[in-house]
Amino acid sequence: MKKITLLISAIALIIGGVFAQNNRIALPIGNSATTLTPQAITERTCATMDNVTQIDLDNMEEWLAPRVDAYIQAQNAGGNVEAVYTIPVIVHVIHYSTHGVGSSTNIPYSRVTEQIQTLNDDFRLTNSDASNAPSVFQAVQADSEVNFCLVTQDLAGNPLAELGVERISLATLGLSDAAQTTTTIQNTVKPNTIWDANQVFNIWVINISGGILGYAQFPNSGAANTDGIVVLYNAFGNTGGTYGKGRTATHEVGHYLNLRHIWGDATCGNDFCNDTPTQQDPYYNCPTHPSPSCSNSGDMFMNFMDYVPDACMVMFTADQKARVQATLNPSTGAPRRSTLNASSANLCAAPVLTAEFNANVTTINVGQSVTFTDASTSPNTINSWTWNFDVTGIGGTSMPTASTQGPHSISYGTAGLFTVSLAVTDNGGGNDTETKTGYILVNPAGTVICDSTDANWDWNSEAYAAAYWGPDCNGTTSPSGFILGNNCYDDNGWASKVSFSAPGKELTDVIYVFVQSIGTGATTLKVWDADGAGFDAGNTAISTAPGTVLASSSVTSGSYSTNLNQFVGMPISPAVALTGDFYIGYDHPSVPANGDSLSMGAANGTTGNQTWANESGIGWRDIAFWGVDYKGTVISVICDISTGEKELLGTLSQIAIYPNPSLGTINIALTEKVNTTISVFNMLGEEVYKTTKNTQLFTVDMKNQPNGVYFIKIKSGDMVTTKKVILSK
Ligand SMILES: [Zn+2]
Repeated sequence: MKKITLLISAIALIIGGVFAQNNRIALPIGNSATTLTPQAITERTCATMDNVTQIDLDNMEEWLAPRVDAYIQAQNAGGNVEAVYTIPVIVHVIHYSTHGVGSSTNIPYSRVTEQIQTLNDDFRLTNSDASNAPSVFQAVQADSEVNFCLVTQDLAGNPLAELGVERISLATLGLSDAAQTTTTIQNTVKPNTIWDANQVFNIWVINISGGILGYAQFPNSGAANTDGIVVLYNAFGNTGGTYGKGRTATHEVGHYLNLRHIWGDATCGNDFCNDTPTQQDPYYNCPTHPSPSCSNSGDMFMNFMDYVPDACMVMFTADQKARVQATLNPSTGAPRRSTLNASSANLCAAPVLTAEFNANVTTINVGQSVTFTDASTSPNTINSWTWNFDVTGIGGTSMPTASTQGPHSISYGTAGLFTVSLAVTDNGGGNDTETKTGYILVNPAGTVICDSTDANWDWNSEAYAAAYWGPDCNGTTSPSGFILGNNCYDDNGWASKVSFSAPGKELTDVIYVFVQSIGTGATTLKVWDADGAGFDAGNTAISTAPGTVLASSSVTSGSYSTNLNQFVGMPISPAVALTGDFYIGYDHPSVPANGDSLSMGAANGTTGNQTWANESGIGWRDIAFWGVDYKGTVISVICDISTGEKELLGTLSQIAIYPNPSLGTINIALTEKVNTTISVFNMLGEEVYKTTKNTQLFTVDMKNQPNGVYFIKIKSGDMVTTKKVILSK
């Protein structure tokens, strides 16, 4: 009986939700937080062979065989001539956004240096456990003559904060904090983060799903933008445990340099090396020598290319070395391998004194100031700074030069395009000068510098938690959303209240998040000042409801796609001055037809913009009056009228680049306003654009660049994100 009573109560609640005006209910959808679940790895799992076709392997062996023969003949003729190659390494630490530097997936820097040491030991036969090889195999144990170095600079020559490392959160790649499949790593992680594989060996350290320790891309196979190896974050460096001695990377680098599994990936298969005994299967444990199979007198299970635990694998052989050496040969080696040694000298060169500086703003009006900040780097101590804020002598600066580090705030009293330079020296005898030509644009006094963003706003890739109102009044169960007009409650308008107090700012764009768009009814998108009559959550009459219309745009209710969470922008030109709180929303000039729906999403939470409804016969009212706590999802672009810096009000969970493909203008919206360097590289790795500003919204003019694929590097502090964009004018 008790159960039946409860059921009836539940039905009564649902009916109440449909018919009772004072019981508006919301159906939340959206993202929930994810937490890291460490994977238990019970045996070595290398996914390299899943990442290559048999045809590619056959072609590779056909290509490699004569080169290996040539190497062996040359060695025999020359008496084992030493050819040591050095491979420059960049480690992409792909981490959960919730993990700080040094924790969990965001591995400590010491893991990286440990791993490079292990690679250098294993490929130079200086590993301390090399003598564990049985004496019968010590005769073929080889120094592979490959060194690994951490790059000291990026491909544009900028010094790295951490040598050989860039840290990238999954969120900046549009991915959630979770173990990633090899498919996602191949399709999303690698192409968006890779450095030119002709110049540098890419290692991705990430939480891989499926219990996989790592995988490699063989030479002569796969795409250029996926080349390199991937290693599970807790098997990289000296992490302890069965796979905690860095041998996963040694094994995968073996594949990357053309080595096959010791058992030939078949029962008594072929690994194309004469000095490794034919072996039946992989070993997952560490057996005792001799362990014969396939009629041999003992398997070489202690080879790095078997599946034994890290502590059990200790050696490469002379024939394996021949394959590695043939692959790396500068004149006859493999694509994206033969070029690595040459670039190592430059990329791994010791850091040198590099002059650099930033400005807090680069477009001002006459009479305004720019603050210049030194950003020079040196392995030594910088001991002199020589600034020139007006290299071409236009005049009118408050101070044309300075001889201290600064920061220096310089006012510009004459309109023009100013070139700025900084020369530095250090106590190691180094000197360098950075000159930024046409760096500061000084407009005549009174020039409008805040304008709407020249772009088609479309942030469909942006994930945004949203909720609907519902069900609607048509007897269906589909949600009606923040619908205006002809809904259950006879609402004539909806608005999100934006709390704002900073003076000297203008509104240049607003971005709505729509969850439903149906019908032909006339609708007006609006921005209101908070100076109108209405009622607060306690039903008290107030005069801060939506009032004066600051901006408006006429659309129809079905103007937009019905995609969930569609971001739609309304440019506001000319920009409107803001004096305080304002509202973003929409209303209608006449009640739409039944079924018309334009629905604004709402975030389920306690932060964000409070939602207001304009109810027929009552007027504007805070929806908290009905005891609900949903916040409207809108983003406002705010521009500082003295600096032109732009800032977003509203949460952006990831960097947005739009439109993509670009017609000539690329906008980059960051998740926060922070001093950031934007660099754009073409497919040749040439830097075609670079700027540093303390702003949240960058606009890059690419109209003079040829169509094609470009990579945008976004650097804020130690965080570096690379995004791909297509220019199609
Ligand atoms: Zn393998």
